[in-house]
Amino acid sequence: MYRKNEIIELNITSLTSDGDGVGRAGELVFFVPNTAVGDIIRARVLKVKKNVGFARVEEVLTPSSDRIEPDCPVSRSCGGCVYRHISYDAELSAKRQKVIDAVTRIGKLPADLVKNIIPSEKIDGYRNKAMIPVGLDRAGEVVMGFYARHSHNIMHCLRCQLSPEIFNAIAGDFYTFLRHRPQLIYTPQNRRGIRHLYLRYAESTGDVMVCVVAGDRHFEDDTLLYDSLTEKYDCIKSIVVNVNPDDTNVILGKRSYTVYGDDSIADTLCGLRFEIAPAAFYQVNRSQAERLYGKAKDYAALTGSETLLDLYCGAGTIGMSMADRCKELIGVEIIPEAIENAKQNAARNGVRNARFLCGDATKAAETLRAEGIRPDVIVVDPPRKGLTPELIDTIVQMSPDRVVYVSCDPATLARDLKLFSEKDYSVKEITPCDMFPRTAHVESVAYLKTDH
Ligand code: SAH
Repeated sequence: MYRKNEIIELNITSLTSDGDGVGRAGELVFFVPNTAVGDIIRARVLKVKKNVGFARVEEVLTPSSDRIEPDCPVSRSCGGCVYRHISYDAELSAKRQKVIDAVTRIGKLPADLVKNIIPSEKIDGYRNKAMIPVGLDRAGEVVMGFYARHSHNIMHCLRCQLSPEIFNAIAGDFYTFLRHRPQLIYTPQNRRGIRHLYLRYAESTGDVMVCVVAGDRHFEDDTLLYDSLTEKYDCIKSIVVNVNPDDTNVILGKRSYTVYGDDSIADTLCGLRFEIAPAAFYQVNRSQAERLYGKAKDYAALTGSETLLDLYCGAGTIGMSMADRCKELIGVEIIPEAIENAKQNAARNGVRNARFLCGDATKAAETLRAEGIRPDVIVVDPPRKGLTPELIDTIVQMSPDRVVYVSCDPATLARDLKLFSEKDYSVKEITPCDMFPRTAHVESVAYLKTDH
């Protein structure tokens, strides 16, 4: 039996889906963050449960050939990147393996369905969105940066390598402004101060949106802060205050008030121009989103005569990138602002064969089915929890020839693919796509075809 703080030697033989190294010591399997397959390490035991243990690296005795020198000073404490210490090639194969593991273990499908992973063009500075928490530390000092791994403590850090330089610059100025104004920061007691700095960047135009998430509306009047930012940065085209008074993990509240410039910023994706409101989902890695959508378009194999249903459509991006190749496009999305954006985006881009419905995908699909809509192709792009079994049933009843499933969670994708394959749909291919370099997350797109 191993005790806390005991030092053990481990051979790291694989990685978990969260990117932790796995090493065996007798009967126990230990999970050790910041390690690589092939490492031999001395590790300190942190916790031992029935069959598994958790440990921390004390010393790398023999480094894996996958190792590289981490180039971020906070990578070990930050909850964002987990793959800063291994080469990008090693990261890509770990991510492809994560998809294969889910597809074979959960989906009970053959591994050779999983094709090569699409690597990201940019490995750093690719994120067009940052949610930077702001708070007070124990001493009452203003801190701003990121949450420490598995915690809600804010580590003070104004630079992130995954962010474009403009975010780091604006975050620095925002902090300079707040540094001596701790009274402006949200606490669970005052419920009114600033909680997050939320930034969005439209790569194709260079436009930036600054969204201040606060407990109440009084930040609307903080012209001193807004003037100093807009005077310095021409690229800031919109400043919005989002109000979130609730003591929850959800970052954005329901209402946003524009205090400077436009209500949204515009970016181009797949040759189309998209306006994106603060509450609307938008892919964080733009050039990689184009590749993902390109793969989804290949799988959709549209000829011009089809009805295409785009479920979980956000601001309408995937469907609209295919609208020139189908007869009719129907998009469904639950966030009203995103549906408003989708409608405006269709009008602005001259897409006349599209309509967008606001509602829950499961309910909306059932309504469409009851109305007699029979799409030829259905694209789904749900959040991590995946599809409901009811929605899968409705899709099967609508009997599209092809289903294209875009997923940000291999485990729920595999679960849902299993359900589809038990109901007259065959999974033909799954292509992993690295949308989030250096993090443990991996996107995939799967292609299913009816057996009839
Ligand atoms: N396809 C879009 C958005 C994908 S993200 C794109 O590529 O940009 C998933 C989307 O599903 C989000 O916009 C989210 O608001 C939406 N969503 C979440 N739950 C939903 C539900 N139950 N019904 C419909 N849409 C939902």
